[in-house]
Formats: sequence, structure tokens, C-alpha cells
Amino acid sequence: MDIIQNGINGELVTSNSATQVPVFNPATGEVSAQLPISTAAEVDAAVAAAKAALPAWANLPPLKRAAFMFKFKQLLDDNAQEIARAISKEHGKTHPDALGELQRGIEIVDYACGIPGLLKGEFSRNVGPSIDTHSDRQPLGVVAGITPFNFPAMVPMWMFPIAVMCGNTFVLKPSERDPSAPMLIWELFQQAGFPAGVFNIVHGDKSAVDRLLDHSDVKAISFVGSTPIAEYIYSRGTAAGKRVQALGGAKNHMIIMPDADMDQVADALMGAGYGSAGERCMAISVAVPIGEETADRLVATLKPRVEALKIGPATDDDAEMGPVITKMHQEKVLGYIDQGVKEGAELVVDGRGFNLQGYENGYYVGGTLFDKVTTDMVIYKEEIFGPVLQVARATDYETAIDMINKHEYGNGTAIFTRDGDAARNFADRIEVGMVGINVPIPVPVAYHSFGGWKRSSFGDHGIYGEEGIHFYTRLKTVTTRWPKGIKSGAAFAFPT
Ligand code: NAD
Repeated sequence: MDIIQNGINGELVTSNSATQVPVFNPATGEVSAQLPISTAAEVDAAVAAAKAALPAWANLPPLKRAAFMFKFKQLLDDNAQEIARAISKEHGKTHPDALGELQRGIEIVDYACGIPGLLKGEFSRNVGPSIDTHSDRQPLGVVAGITPFNFPAMVPMWMFPIAVMCGNTFVLKPSERDPSAPMLIWELFQQAGFPAGVFNIVHGDKSAVDRLLDHSDVKAISFVGSTPIAEYIYSRGTAAGKRVQALGGAKNHMIIMPDADMDQVADALMGAGYGSAGERCMAISVAVPIGEETADRLVATLKPRVEALKIGPATDDDAEMGPVITKMHQEKVLGYIDQGVKEGAELVVDGRGFNLQGYENGYYVGGTLFDKVTTDMVIYKEEIFGPVLQVARATDYETAIDMINKHEYGNGTAIFTRDGDAARNFADRIEVGMVGINVPIPVPVAYHSFGGWKRSSFGDHGIYGEEGIHFYTRLKTVTTRWPKGIKSGAAFAFPT
């Protein structure tokens, strides 16, 4: 049985906490490791290591920092298969899906290698007589990240590569459900030669998070997870005077216009609705066909495809999706399907009772499709985070826009159409942070930034890209005068 260790000051450290929690393999239901709920002293040790590493790291020329990052990127590429297997074992997603998430994380590392050019300040000569002004983006200090189970490699990599390349040092509290991939990544980071203490990992639950939120040496918190926790992190962190970005949950709609290519739509919905068993914050969970005829065609096209979904463990190369993360989450998702039936939605494909021979204790939920879902239903309002796609029929385009704009979440959305006017109108008016036009999962690439609207995100900055650089730095503006031969006397009016 693996015992998960903390990574503090460049060393793997066994926790002496009396409390351990099991890590499961969701494909089989077996316990694969034990994870410590680290003590307050262990969280403090991680912060202290980051604080001790800070002055030298922050002063290192950015190109020297980048030299470590280039080596790290190479090590990630070289070890991608092993990291992907660790992701799949504890998360349950298929191997290609795990490789995909890792690749998106590596792209952030790629981008971070080029940060020296983006940290360049601005300079204005002669803003006054012999006076010049320059501005500079300086690191915040020790910053921390708290991450969710569904992207155990990618989401931490949305944070620490940018933070450390901006001259900060970092403490990560990863999800307690799938800690092995972040630990492998941490080990590669040390192998790349970064100084000890630049990146630290401490495992735990709410108690570790609260310790980080209240710690006076932690200057900023990046959080990704569910909305109630995001809101809590934002309010407690900002009350403690920290800069906080807290990304939350989602309910992503996709409008299907009558002119859309239905085969393309079905392909998009199968991948975006059921990929990773629906456990993506950018999953499409609500399909909104415009008009009854479009809706009937959509449901008729989707039904056989949902019924034919290949579900299995990541060790099965043919599997299109795996189990959900825990027994408790499996029960929650099944409970939502019961709820939808009770509320009167039409259950077109029922994923309850799915059973996989040889994997009876795994946390599987069969692909589920609801039709005639309405906006007053609990299954429409809440994030289910499982392989449950809903069809919410709209009589016309305006009704669909109104439906999406009224939803409490605003992470991602998409429209499928061949009509440029409709697509442009949609992109202008939709109150959602990330929009796809014939693209179902519009997760921005590394040099753009990721961020939802409304209750999908708390705080003023998106994550990674230039928004990430702004989040992890503060602006200093220096005005300089070399007053050779100027004798102006004391001036009591405001300088102009
Ligand atoms: P979660 O909110 O349960 O946990 C996220 C992190 O918060 C974990 O590290 C966990 O240990 C910690 N945590 C849990 N309860 C806490 C508490 N009471 N106090 C302090 N910390 C606590 O989320 P999850 O189940 O791991 O992940 C799924 C959720 O994350 C979904 O809602 C999904 O939409 C969301 N998500 C959002 C994005 C995004 O970019 N907006 C990306 C990925 C996942």
C-alpha cells in the first residue's frame, strides 16, 4: 500500500499525522494508497520552506528561472505515459483523456518558459524635465494553490508554472482523491534542478486549506473546485488580506440551431457530455435545440449513440469513459437521475443499474440522456458532474439566450450553427466567460486565459496566460529624476 508523502523543501517527507484517508481506484473500488491529513505544523513547514526560498528565487534573473523550466518541460514530455497512468488509476479517466489533460498542462509550462519577455516593464522618457518613469511587475511572495480531483495534473499546472516564473514560491494542496500525479510532477520539478522550497506540496483537507487561508506569510490563493467552496475560499482569503482567484462549478449549455450539421453536433455532444464521465467543468451538460423538429432529430441521433457508449476501466483501450470518482459521488449522480424522473423529465437512456462484469465494485454510472428538461427542475439548476446529458428544448433562439443568461453559472457555452450572424450575436450577448462557435469545449490555449463569469468564478483575474501573470505580480511604477543643474526650489503645488 502506497503512503502518500508531502514534498517540502525539495524532500519527500512522511507525515506524522494521526489521520490518514484512503485513496481509491474508482475502476475497481479498491484502496490504492493512504493519504495523510497533514497537521498545521506540516502546512507551516511547507510555507516556511517557500518563504526561505523566496529572496534568492525572486532575485534570480528570469532567464535563469526559465532554464529550469525548459528542463522541467522536457522531463514532463519524457514521463508523460507514467503520469497519465497515475492520473487514470486514481481518477478513472481513460489513458488518452489523461494524456490530453497532461498535454494541456505542459502547454502552460511551455508558455511559462517565455515569461521573461512578458515581465518586461514599460518605460517613458521625459515625462517631465529630466524625469523618466518605468513600471515593473514584481512577485507577490509565497502563494498557494488548492486544486480539485477532476484534473489532478492540468489544474495545478494552470498555477505553479506561472507563479514561480513570475518569481514567487508556491505551496500546493492538491485534491485528496488523486494525489499521485501531482507528486510525480513535483518529483520531476525537483529533478529539473529548481532550488529547494520553490514548489512544495502538502496533502490534507479543509484543515490544511484553512491554515493556508489564514497564514500571514501566504500572499495569494488560487483555488479551483466547486462553487460553495470557491465562495468560502474567496471570502475567507480576502478577509485575511490576500489576493484570491477562486474558480467554481458550472452548467454549460450548447445551443443547436436548426441549420447545424447534426452528425457534427452528435459527435460534439458525445465527447463533451460523456468524456471523462462528465466530470469536467467545461463539460456540456445541457443541449438546447431550437424548435421541436431540431429537438426530435437531436434526440433520435443521440439515443443509439448514448446506448452504445463503451464504459470501462482505463486499462481497457476501447473504453470511451470510465467510472466517476467515488462511491459517494456515484450515489449522488444516481440520486440526480431519480430526481429527474420524479420531476417529470423524459428519461431517454437510463444509466442506472449499469454493471461491468469483473468490476462490480467500481463506481460506474451508465451514460444517461434526459429530454424535455425544464428550467424549474433541480437537475437543470444544479451541477451534476456525471455522465448525464440533458436536452432542454427552446422554442426559439431568444428563449435559449435568455435561459443561459439566467443560469447562475457562466463558465462555458457553445453554439452549433452555419449562420455567421447568429454566431456573432451569440458571442456578443451571452453572459458566459468562455464561448465556443462550433467548438464544444472552448478551453482557451495557454497564451489566452481561462475564466468563467457569474458564480463560476470569484475574483478579478482569469487563470494562466497574461491574466495569470497579472494575478501573480504587482505593479510598481518608478519615477526618476537626475536634476543636473536644475534648481527649482520647493514646490507646494501638486507636481505637473
Ligand atoms: P471540491 O470543491 O470538493 O474540492 C476542491 C478542493 O477544495 C480540494 O482540494 C478539497 O480538498 C478542498 N476542499 C473541499 N472541501 C473544503 C472545505 N470545506 N474547505 C476548504 N477546502 C475544501 O471540488 P472537487 O469535487 O474536487 O472538484 C469538482 C468541482 O470542481 C466541480 O464543481 C467542478 O465544476 C469544479 N471545477 C471547476 C473548474 C473551473 O475551472 N471553473 C475546473 C475544474 C473543476
